[in-house]
Amino acid sequence: MKISKIGVIGLGNMGMGMVRTLLRERFEVVGFDLNAARMAEAAAAGAMIAADIDQLFHDAETVILSLPTAQHVRGTLAGSHGLLSLGTSPRLVIDTTTSEPDVTRELDVLLRHQGHILIDAPVSGGPAGANSGQLTMMVGGANADVATAMPVLQALAGKITHVGPTGAGHVVKLVNNMLCAAHLLTMSEAVRLAEAADVSAERLIAALNAGSGRSAISEVNYPKWIMNGAFDSGFTMGLMRKDVRLAMALADDKGAELPVARLVGDIWGASIETLDDTADFNRIVTCDPTPDTAPRAGEKS
Ligand code: NAD
Repeated sequence: MKISKIGVIGLGNMGMGMVRTLLRERFEVVGFDLNAARMAEAAAAGAMIAADIDQLFHDAETVILSLPTAQHVRGTLAGSHGLLSLGTSPRLVIDTTTSEPDVTRELDVLLRHQGHILIDAPVSGGPAGANSGQLTMMVGGANADVATAMPVLQALAGKITHVGPTGAGHVVKLVNNMLCAAHLLTMSEAVRLAEAADVSAERLIAALNAGSGRSAISEVNYPKWIMNGAFDSGFTMGLMRKDVRLAMALADDKGAELPVARLVGDIWGASIETLDDTADFNRIVTCDPTPDTAPRAGEKS
């Protein structure tokens, strides 16, 4: 199966970057979003625009989803106007949404009955990675299906790890974001401790990044979005709170004992009191790391 035309549903911070990358890689792209401004932006970038999801699924045999939550994915695939209601020939659906493994597995069974293929390929790397085609992807799907999708995955991602059958990608993505959420909190405590002991954050970070305490948070988030006060990563508190909540729900479901991650989950959950859903997710470092307190004096939320 040669893939030349790709549909993209969800033209937000991530989906729009993917559209630009796919166009640069000489794929034809047809996009759809509920937001008219997003569709106009995609059209200006050179994508065709579908009138609705129905038209998009009829136009494109390969469709990428970049939607906020599993509920949006379910509606797009199994809702009253979703793929399953359309009677199209088989489609390859690549779900890059940070979604719920159980929902993904349930949709996989439903789609397979009609001959469609679903693989989950959630991503790390943010809007910059989507725009540059240098995302990191954690992929779930059958070997043959992942091989079919590979030209599209390779256009979007610099690093691709096939982690298991459909649904496994979404498990790994939740684990990844649980760690990212924890590292933001532990790094903010590291800065607080160093400053209390008269070492500046800048010098601490320079040393840590050459030492074993480093993480993506010390190497990327602090220099790029936190230390300079930019807080413009393109990933929101609302989406990260969703991911942390889903990781905790997965732990509940599987009976996994995760006492440290539970505390992280409580702190992220309580942050709704002081940081609204649209705030940059790096703002969590401005919260006092106890579940029921406001941002520290002098720090903007
Ligand atoms: P976003 O909110 O910027 O974009 C989502 C888009 O989906 C919006 O434009 C919205 O209008 C559209 N949409 C919602 N329902 C729709 C529907 N039924 N049909 C068509 N369009 C619909 O979100 P984002 O930051 O682009 O994130 C997308 C997904 O990628 C999320 O699951 C997120 O958790 C994940 N993610 C985001 C980042 C990041 O840095 N932003 C990084 C990795 C993963």
